[in-house]
Amino acid sequence: MTIYAGTIVDTPGDPFDGDPADALAEAGALLVRDGVICARGSFAALRTEYPDEPVIQLPGGMLVPGFVDTHVHFPQIRAIGGLGMPLLDWLERCALPEESKLADQVYAREVASEFLDGLLASGTTSALVFGSHFAAAMDELFAAAEQRGLNITSGLVLSDRILRPDLLQSPQAALADSTDLIDRWHDRGRLRYAVTPRFSLSASNEMLDVCAQLLDRGVWFTSHVNENLAEVAAVAGLFPGVRHYLDTYGQHGLVTKRSVFAHNVHPSDAELAMLAEHGASVSHCPTSNCALGSGLFPLRRHVERGVGIALGSDVGAGAGLFIPKEALQAYFIQHLLGPGGMNLTPVHLLYLATRAGARALSLDDRVGDFSVGKDFDAVWLRPAAGSTLAVNLKHASGTTDALARVFSLATPADVAGVWIRGVARQGPSLSQAAR
Ligand SMILES: [Zn+2]
Repeated sequence: MTIYAGTIVDTPGDPFDGDPADALAEAGALLVRDGVICARGSFAALRTEYPDEPVIQLPGGMLVPGFVDTHVHFPQIRAIGGLGMPLLDWLERCALPEESKLADQVYAREVASEFLDGLLASGTTSALVFGSHFAAAMDELFAAAEQRGLNITSGLVLSDRILRPDLLQSPQAALADSTDLIDRWHDRGRLRYAVTPRFSLSASNEMLDVCAQLLDRGVWFTSHVNENLAEVAAVAGLFPGVRHYLDTYGQHGLVTKRSVFAHNVHPSDAELAMLAEHGASVSHCPTSNCALGSGLFPLRRHVERGVGIALGSDVGAGAGLFIPKEALQAYFIQHLLGPGGMNLTPVHLLYLATRAGARALSLDDRVGDFSVGKDFDAVWLRPAAGSTLAVNLKHASGTTDALARVFSLATPADVAGVWIRGVARQGPSLSQAAR
């Protein structure tokens, strides 16, 4: 067993339900056995009760739960920074040419490593990852994620129309390749499979039927919806009979409590009601929405309708893998919306970066906060001495104020340690423990 001691902050509650301050919790120490938290409290109390256990002291900064990214494209890690285009142009000119390169398995292996190491360096320990159009590239991602112990849900991206031809497959091939990947990777350790049509724009009804067949295997589902007005109009033209964009998935039984839809910047009330009714979640991707000019996310309408929301970095359209940056951008967007926006407190931002994502992925029984019984997936944010964040933390009036400074100023350079199920993946290890 190991005692971790420091400023430990999490959100076991839900700040969107009641007083946000009530959702926040603090501790001085956690006792971890075999990667699982088995006690929390003050350092003095845990030290007295467990005098012989090694202690890892985490002086300065704060320890928070590992971040959860609910929408991020692994084949796009080398394609960040394509500014100046709306969604459909950006896909054609920036994202999809890069995604085609993953047909080469050696290339895909390098990209998978760069991507997963990037997640770790950003403190992200769980993610719903938008996969590749190539099955061999998915093998590379899953194998590399397993090596690193990351909590990864992902799947082969399916498309049978409109995109460049090398990214298309037939529904029959999609079924065969996906079935094989599910057999080999779903529910293997911390890995899970997600059926992933790119979006209904590039998936025929026949392909969406294949998705429904695959979803019956008890796996997950993710796709895009209502990201950009030109995309919404194009989808309406392709599915003349449907009530709205979400219904292109709903008609095939793909809107479920195991479904996570990215963006939803332009939802109708009927779509919000359908998401809530089926318990599906939405991944809000703030820097991507701003970079592509997609729009300002109507967070209040989601919350008021009872739709679960979490954060996604949406790399490569998003501006990097660091989830606190997405939380800050979410705050900015809500502020810009004026009376129609929601006033997000620092507690909301921590919740959105951690537990909200765990809930959207139904991983909240395992990760997302530091309650006893959960996996010790943790990030130690400790700024370099003399940095502007260090100066600000020194002058913070309390935990909530300190969180505000962290979300305003922290970058991946402040990630001083990452633990996955109690194993140090970066930063201080047991050998440095102060007994
Ligand atoms: Zn996306």
